[in-house]
Parts: sequence; C-alpha cells; structure tokens
Amino acid sequence: MTEWNKLVPKPRGKFLRVKCLKCGNEQLLYSNAVNKVTCNVCGEILAEPAGGKAKIKGEILTAFE
Ligand SMILES: [Zn+2]
Repeated sequence: MTEWNKLVPKPRGKFLRVKCLKCGNEQLLYSNAVNKVTCNVCGEILAEPAGGKAKIKGEILTAFE
C-alpha cells in the first residue's frame, strides 16, 4: 500500500439528488456514503450506511454516474 493508493478514491458509487420527504428540500448525496446524511434544512435522515452502500430514505430524483 503506497500513499498514492490512499489518495486516489475508487468511484464506484453515484451522486444522487434526493428530496427530503419531510420538508421537500433537495440535496446531493453520495450513494456509497459511509456516514449518515441528514437534511440540511430539517435534519431528517436522508441516507444511512448499510454494508458499504447507503440506504436512501428520501425520494431519489436524479442519479449522476
Ligand atoms: Zn428536510
């Protein structure tokens, strides 16, 4: 393992535009999020990590590869 390997991420996930079901706020999150993602407006959980892939709680509007 070199320093270089640590610096280059392996992009396997997607960016998702997710709509908060509680307040309607739309925000971008990463589909392989390793941390819990909460709504910037109301704090509702939008995604939770589940075995390397995020479990999306909101409504997915668009996915970007
Ligand atoms: Zn919200």
